[in-house]
Amino acid sequence: MPVPGSPRLLVRAGLCLAALAAAVASITAAQAPSRPTASAPPLPPLSLTCPMHPDVVEARPGACPLCKMTLVPVRLDASWMCPVHAVVTEQQPGSCRLCGRSLVPVVVSLTWTCRGEVNAEFLEPGVCRDGSPRIGKRTLRPHGNHNPQHGGQFFMAPDTWHHLEGTLPRDRLFRLHVYDDYARSLPAAALAAMQGRVVTRQRFDTATRTTIEERAFPLKPSKDGKSLEAAIDRASMPSAMSVKVRFKPDAPEYRFDFTFPALTREPAAPQAASARPAARPPAGSKDPDPRTDEVDVLSTPPPGTMAEMLADLRKRRTEIDELIKKGDYGAIWVPAFQAKDLAVALEPHVSHLGVQERSNAEPALADVVRTAWLLDSVGDTGNAEQVGRAYTAFVLAVSRLLAAFEPVR
Ligand SMILES: [Zn+2]
Ligand SMILES: [Zn+2]
Ligand SMILES: [Zn+2]
Repeated sequence: MPVPGSPRLLVRAGLCLAALAAAVASITAAQAPSRPTASAPPLPPLSLTCPMHPDVVEARPGACPLCKMTLVPVRLDASWMCPVHAVVTEQQPGSCRLCGRSLVPVVVSLTWTCRGEVNAEFLEPGVCRDGSPRIGKRTLRPHGNHNPQHGGQFFMAPDTWHHLEGTLPRDRLFRLHVYDDYARSLPAAALAAMQGRVVTRQRFDTATRTTIEERAFPLKPSKDGKSLEAAIDRASMPSAMSVKVRFKPDAPEYRFDFTFPALTREPAAPQAASARPAARPPAGSKDPDPRTDEVDVLSTPPPGTMAEMLADLRKRRTEIDELIKKGDYGAIWVPAFQAKDLAVALEPHVSHLGVQERSNAEPALADVVRTAWLLDSVGDTGNAEQVGRAYTAFVLAVSRLLAAFEPVR
C-alpha cells in the first residue's frame, strides 16, 4: 500500500506539504463550477474504512481486521485546523485567524451534495438533477484529529468516543483536558460529572491480587470549568502517573498511563496583533515538528527484497519495544503501521515458499496485520497493560512469520 496516501500520516504527524498542496488543489478544481476535464488533477483516492473503526483505513476492499465488518468507501483528505479553535479549518497550512497558533493537520472526508436534495451524498463531483454542479463538502472525520491541543500527551478512551490530554503545566499540578470524538472540548457540566484521580504511586499486591494505590489525588473541575485538575505530589522527571476515570458515575473506570519527559509547554500563541496569516510561512517550515523524520521514513517505500523486508520488520519490532519502555504509547502507531505495511508487502512472496511454509506463513501474515492494528489502537488508548498484551501477541505473530519465511532466504 502506498504510504504517502495514508491518512494516518495526515492525522498526527507532520506531513509532506507539497503532496497535500496537490491534493488540496485537486479538491478546489473539483469544486469549481466547470466540469472536470481529463486534465484535471486527480481526486484523493477512494479508501476503504470500517463503519465502526474509523481508524482502520485500507487501500483494498475487504473486512475490518478488528471486527470483520465489510469496509465501506470513503474519500479522505487533509485540512488544517487550529489546535484550540475547531471552527477554524482551512484547506492550507498557516495560522489561526483568531489566535495565531500554527494550524495542525487533520483528516476530513470529501463528499458532494446537491442543493435541495437533502440525502444526496456522492463520492465524486458531477452534475445535479437540475443541471448545476454538485457542491463539495469537507467533513472532519471522527478521530480525524489526534493532535494534543495543549502540548500534552493525548489518548483515546476505550469507549472510542472520549479523548484525553494530560499536561503538567507546572510542578505539582496535573491538568486533564477531555474531548469528544471530533476533538471538541467537553462542556463544563460533562466534566463535572466525571470522577477520577491521578495515581503517582501504586503497587500490585500479589497476596490479594489487587493494586494498592499509595498516592492518589482527586481530579476536580478547574476554576474556569474547562479542564480537570489534581494537585499532585512533587514529580521528578521523567514522571509516570496513571489517571483513572469514569466519564459518568455508572460508566466503567478506565486507566490511562502517562509519562512526561518534562513539564508541559503550551504551543506558542503569538500576539494577536502580530498574527498575519498570509505573511507567515507554512506551519511546517516555521515550527519544525520533531516527528518530521518519521514521516520521511514512512514516505520511503518498503525495501524491495524479501530479506530486507524481514530485516525491516525486526527493526520495527525493536522500535515498538523501545517506545513501550519509554511510555511513549501515542507514537507506537508509526512503527506498527510500517509493520502492517511490511506484512502486506510480503504477501506476494508467499508464493515462493514451500507448501509447509506457505501454510504457516499465510495465517502468520494475517496475524501480524491484525496485531499491528491492535498495537496501533491500544497505543492510542495509553493503557500500559493492554499495550503489553498487544505487544506480546504482535511479537508472537512476527516470530511465526519470520520462521515461515527465513528457510528460503
Ligand atoms: Zn471494525
Ligand atoms: Zn485559534
Ligand atoms: Zn480518536
